[in-house]
Amino acid sequence: SSTLVSEMLEEVADRFSFQLQQRKIRILIHVEQGVTSLLLDRDKIDQVLDNLVSNAIKYTGDEGAIRLEARKIEKDVLEISVQDNGIGIPKKDLSRIFDRFYRVDKARSRNMGGTGLGLSIAREIVKAHGGSIILESELGQGTRVVFLLPIQQEEEDEL
Ligand code: ATP
Ligand code: MG
Repeated sequence: SSTLVSEMLEEVADRFSFQLQQRKIRILIHVEQGVTSLLLDRDKIDQVLDNLVSNAIKYTGDEGAIRLEARKIEKDVLEISVQDNGIGIPKKDLSRIFDRFYRVDKARSRNMGGTGLGLSIAREIVKAHGGSIILESELGQGTRVVFLLPIQQEEEDEL
């Protein structure tokens, strides 16, 4: 059955509401007009979103901001992005960031928990859906992760 994209993004934010409030991190959701219901493997895409939002929270200072955005690029591709204004990632680490167990220097990750699997799992799921995922980051400025998913045709309306 089809998923309402705006609801899906609002529900991710809800799942993290405790941490967001505790850290005074604002979350902004923007869904482009015309992006409504889509056929998505909701459980899997939720896993991707949870991994990305959990990173955005972990690696952003108190009172930071996170932006979740969904839009259509081309007729049959959905783009979802998770952007933060957190600590960012050094250039030298970017090429390995999706590797299993890879974490940017242990010192800054030590106190934050985690195994370094979140991004690799996210990439596996997105790839399994025929999509792609990229990460852009500027040290000290923030990080943006963008994934693309092919949009499946809506089921034919029953007549
Ligand atoms: P896990 O996801 O298994 O709990 P993790 O968050 O350390 O652990 P990944 O999600 O795979 O692992 O991320 C890998 C590394 O990339 C992180 O350790 C962190 O250094 C860096 N990273 C990921 N997302 C961000 C982000 N939004 N801002 C800054 N650094 C990030
Ligand atoms: Mg993670």
